[in-house]
Amino acid sequence: MKFSDRAMQVTPSATVKVSNTAKAMIRKGIEVINLGIGEPDFKTPKVIADAAIKAIQDGKTSFYTPASGLPQLKEAIAERIKKDCGVIYPVDQISVTNGAKMALYVLMQVLVDQGSEVLLPRPSWVSYKQQVLLAGGKPVVVETGDDFKITTKTLDDAVSRDAKVLVINSPQNPTGTVYSRDELEAIGKWAVLHNVTLIADDIYGKLMYNQNQFVSLIQISDEIAASTVLVNGVSKAYSMTGWRIGYVAGAPELISKVNAILSHSTGNPATVSQYAAIAAFESDQTEVESMRVAFEERLNTIYPLVQKIPGFKMAVKPQGAFYLFPNVQEAIKLAGVNTSGELVDLLLDKAHVAVVDGDAFGMPGYLRLSYAASLKDLLTAVDRITKFMNQFL
Ligand code: PLP
Repeated sequence: MKFSDRAMQVTPSATVKVSNTAKAMIRKGIEVINLGIGEPDFKTPKVIADAAIKAIQDGKTSFYTPASGLPQLKEAIAERIKKDCGVIYPVDQISVTNGAKMALYVLMQVLVDQGSEVLLPRPSWVSYKQQVLLAGGKPVVVETGDDFKITTKTLDDAVSRDAKVLVINSPQNPTGTVYSRDELEAIGKWAVLHNVTLIADDIYGKLMYNQNQFVSLIQISDEIAASTVLVNGVSKAYSMTGWRIGYVAGAPELISKVNAILSHSTGNPATVSQYAAIAAFESDQTEVESMRVAFEERLNTIYPLVQKIPGFKMAVKPQGAFYLFPNVQEAIKLAGVNTSGELVDLLLDKAHVAVVDGDAFGMPGYLRLSYAASLKDLLTAVDRITKFMNQFL
């Protein structure tokens, strides 16, 4: 069988791979702590699960909804965006997708032509690059400094005449970096000037810590909002990764293209999940807040401990999301290996802790640790890694 060039160039998600290896080891009875995947460890709040159960019992399962989602869900999303960001999107400017991942995939299909350049900060989430390649586009790296932020200067260095799209993910996976209003304004104005469409991946927007405030690109100015496509979803903030609901909000013409592609690909997301998502967006958000507080406690507890692991260094404390992204170049030398990938393998084999190689995010020499795990597991994992590294001192 001969595979398409498209299929041949795509590589499987490194985060999913490491997590699957860890899960397989756990099934064999090995006590691995999995800090490999961005999957909140909380149960989906009861009010949300109950809405799904009710939808099943009411028989709301034997029909297709519009490919772009239930009108009631789009209304709930519009209301949530208004409450959270103060920006109004009519329902025809919203499309519901199978997770934010599908939203981003479809957007690349809608915005990217063969050879079009898409600007991606380094580091950034594993799937953007693969999605750009699958759309026939050319991923272009925008470098960042110690704070992992791009600036108009690094954008100027990266841009060419053909750049079409820039993806901004704040709070950011894998670093927890958050852009301030001023920084977003500068980037937004730059994008407007260069006629570059902004994708604002706000999936971690509700997970902000230690009094830091989240600002979305859509809130900066009407002009910047008009050049921005918003992507968000329920996975991270509502602990609903398995329900697969995300959304896109943007200009009506863009949304109608998104809807056309959805109508020929996924069709609608599962109706039951859509009813659950309505409950999530309409709920009083107290459970979101208690999960946020738990993540904040974990960050504040493990950040200083990870800083003390021999050979691990972080220049800036994360402000959001649920990841630490230490520079481990010293640890690689100490452990007598050559790459962060080899260090990941050693930590899994010897310390029984699963983490992700920074290479997957474009930054070899770094590791990503997810703190979407219980405090107890996090403390044990950090202790295991520390003991493992101590033996090389
Ligand atoms: N965007 C970022 C930055 C992510 O980290 C993830 C999940 O890991 C997603 C989008 C996709 O989220 P989902 O498809 O679960 O909504």
